[in-house]
Amino acid sequence: MYILLMGPPGAGKGTQAALLVEKFRIPHISTGDIFRAAVREGTPLGLEAKRYMDSGSLVPDSVTIGIVKDRLTKLDCKNGFILDGFPRTLDQAAALDSTLADMGIEITRVFNISVPDAELVRRLTGRRICKGCGATYHVLFNPPKAADRCDKCGGEIFQRVDDQEETVARRLAVYRARTQPVIGYYQEKGLYTEIDGRQAIDEVSIVIDGVLRGAMS
Ligand code: ADP
Ligand code: ADP
Ligand code: ZN
Repeated sequence: MYILLMGPPGAGKGTQAALLVEKFRIPHISTGDIFRAAVREGTPLGLEAKRYMDSGSLVPDSVTIGIVKDRLTKLDCKNGFILDGFPRTLDQAAALDSTLADMGIEITRVFNISVPDAELVRRLTGRRICKGCGATYHVLFNPPKAADRCDKCGGEIFQRVDDQEETVARRLAVYRARTQPVIGYYQEKGLYTEIDGRQAIDEVSIVIDGVLRGAMS
């Protein structure tokens, strides 16, 4: 099962990826998570990526493509993966194709979770993350049971700097300009499924499951 999860920032990619990981036991590869880990560790990659992330821009393809390629060629990706937040540009999509062709892998399905901008702003500005395990919450739509503590690990909950309102507007504009064209790329290949992301978390998950069941039978 080789799944791509696309969609604007805040659409619910990470949330759905976490649910798919539980079901299929395949690795969840999020370029955003990889960059944030590098920032935390203060590596050269982290220092470079941070400049772009904090302003809501994309990290350059020259950096991003190599990182994903290294990750995909690890052994645990052989039997499946969920790619979340990659590809975000046409050049990334082309690079992914050539990496997968080298590995003899064909993409099972590309999902684009679609949500109107006003709702994305609500989701992003209310998003909270666990410092301990990275679990994602929302202050209104998916709150932790105890205020400010993660349900899964008890870790502290925080807000990403790029989830503040000023940066959110920039990220949505970047999505429209750079990432939206990738949709056409996968439509032409017949791999594309649009998901109505306005539904509740478990409803979105049921729709994705149904499509995957169809793709496997
Ligand atoms: P992405 O990875 O696409 O940026 P997330 O999965 O982090 O999106 O979700 C963004 C925010 O919206 C989070 O706070 C999450 O809890 C919340 N969220 C995710 N899916 C839904 C949904 N279907 N309905 C309401 N809120 C959602
Ligand atoms: P979201 O969950 O809101 O969609 P991500 O966590 O996927 O955001 O990404 C956060 C930031 O990391 C992006 O704004 C961008 O700076 C950088 N980033 C993540 N994935 C990519 C990518 N495929 N190409 C370039 N930059 C990326
Ligand atoms: Zn946690």
